[in-house]
Amino acid sequence: MHLGLEGKRALVTGASQGIGLAVAKGLAAEGVEVALSARTATTLEAAVSALRALGGRAVGIPADVSRPDEIARLLTRVREELGAPDILVVNAGGPPAGTPTALSEAAWAKAHELTLMSAVRLADGVLPAMRTARWGRIINITSVSVKEPILNLTLSNALRAAVTGFAKTLSVEVAADGVTVNNVAPGYTATERLNELFEDAAARARLEASIPAKRFADPAEIAAAVLFLASVPAAYITGQTLVVDGGATKGVH
Ligand code: NAD
Repeated sequence: MHLGLEGKRALVTGASQGIGLAVAKGLAAEGVEVALSARTATTLEAAVSALRALGGRAVGIPADVSRPDEIARLLTRVREELGAPDILVVNAGGPPAGTPTALSEAAWAKAHELTLMSAVRLADGVLPAMRTARWGRIINITSVSVKEPILNLTLSNALRAAVTGFAKTLSVEVAADGVTVNNVAPGYTATERLNELFEDAAARARLEASIPAKRFADPAEIAAAVLFLASVPAAYITGQTLVVDGGATKGVH
């Protein structure tokens, strides 16, 4: 299938490593000019250099997406250095683990800004130009926790469900303008995040054995789903969540 993405422009947040970096690399390989963002300029520069070494066109713009002022600055710089993005991929680190009764008000407020409001603010920032162009793709990276809550990841379970509801509602509002809004929900994927959540190698191995595919996802396999949803042929798919989990979730809906 020809994805039709040559010459498009994309903004990928949380792009210095893991799934975000794999998405940025995948888009660049399709001829997309990519603005990569993450909090730390040095790690971001390494990611941008890796993309350029593969022949991709890329710029790096540091920003913490949990902060509205930094999102506003990021969007201004993207427009200046790249032009208005045709594709937005909303990604960042996941909120910290914690059982429902163990979380402070401050932890909830922080996770709300990081996971839900980043998606709202980034979409708000890119949508006017997408609607004018009558073409746009917004893809949020969520988690299998939107299908089956993961017991000690309360913040992720609650706030990614909120992102899913927001994306569905937004998708209806902008559908007639040629803009699609979807989510990719990764299962367990071999990144730094996974190592942080499961420091114990034996526990990690047990988890891996419990997945029907008997392995963790490669970040490039999550990126493949993002690329498809970003593509021209995916124009009629909107408001959906595409789960990429090696068969781990058992529900049919
Ligand atoms: P990761 O921790 O390896 O990478 C996260 C990226 O986001 C990094 O580039 C980091 O610098 C950046 N980032 C973190 N906080 C940020 C902030 N406030 N502002 C801007 N950038 C920020 O994570 P990953 O494994 O690639 O996962 C990406 C997303 O997918 C996370 O939200 C994670 O919870 C979710 N997810 C991951 C898995 C998994 O198994 N790895 C499974 C399901 C969902």
